Amino acid sequence: MKFSEDVYIKAEAELKKRRDNAENLAEMRRKQIANKHPELLEIENVIRDAALEVIKGLGSGKSVNVESLAEKNLEAQAKKKKLLTENGYPEDYLEPQYSCKKCSDSGIFNGKLCSCHLELLKKISMSEYSCSSVLAVSTFDTFDLKYYSENKDINLGYSPREYMEASYDFLKSYAESFTKNSGSFFFTGATGLGKTHLSLAVMNTVSQKGYNVFYGSADNIIKEMEKERFGRSNGDIEEEINNADLLIIDDLGTEFKTAFSETAVYQLINNAILNSKPMIISSNLSINELEERYGQRVVSRLNSFEVINFIGTDIRQIKK
Ligand SMILES: [Zn+2]
Repeated sequence: MKFSEDVYIKAEAELKKRRDNAENLAEMRRKQIANKHPELLEIENVIRDAALEVIKGLGSGKSVNVESLAEKNLEAQAKKKKLLTENGYPEDYLEPQYSCKKCSDSGIFNGKLCSCHLELLKKISMSEYSCSSVLAVSTFDTFDLKYYSENKDINLGYSPREYMEASYDFLKSYAESFTKNSGSFFFTGATGLGKTHLSLAVMNTVSQKGYNVFYGSADNIIKEMEKERFGRSNGDIEEEINNADLLIIDDLGTEFKTAFSETAVYQLINNAILNSKPMIISSNLSINELEERYGQRVVSRLNSFEVINFIGTDIRQIKK
């Protein structure tokens, strides 16, 4: 699982807040008990002195009676617990109450990310995702067909509005009845005709049904794969994609063309097909242009895809 730098920083800050809260609360309790029961301070002095003597002894190389110091320490600890319980407090009342007992809110357990840390990362990354304005507003409800012309296209025999309305209905019912065995789509058409909006609308609906959707632009996916392949990132985008129930690749063809990217695109699509993973691939390129760019072997993989031709006039031009 891979998270952005920003998500790691936020999780780190949250862990620090948890630690600080636990430690501040423990310190407040300590002061409160010491006020009412000054013996606590004496007991704490004994504990501190015993520890100091061990450290001093070890540093000077002189022999230290560690056993007797350990005994002193245990005795004092027992006294402290007794003081607390006799006065009606739990015996660990003065210990910081970390929200994670495993890692004491450090986020690291046995040299690895603690489960609490991983959970936090997921939570933050999910909330960033759902807060991201584009995703939040790109639903089926906000998709407006009025931007598509009602004028019949002489060549096609229907209007862009009619065609897009039918495509919209089809995609909506696809998303609402999505299962891991659903089919795949290829969205083609110029920029600004709603390909990304409808991809995200499918993503929103399918995610709400509890499925795991991976969405990324071809450019970002390939860049990340390349970074990982060459050890410049320790994420695992391929595993994330493997774990997804629906894979959405936006803007295929806009990624930088290199020997690596060409192989990676083929592998990405091929693996998903071999795993019978439903996919939505969108591109400004037509099937023919796709074939020119990636060759027959990539395009032949898309044979089983339902093709939706986004037609009309760039919505962003109309909205201006
Ligand atoms: Zn933990």
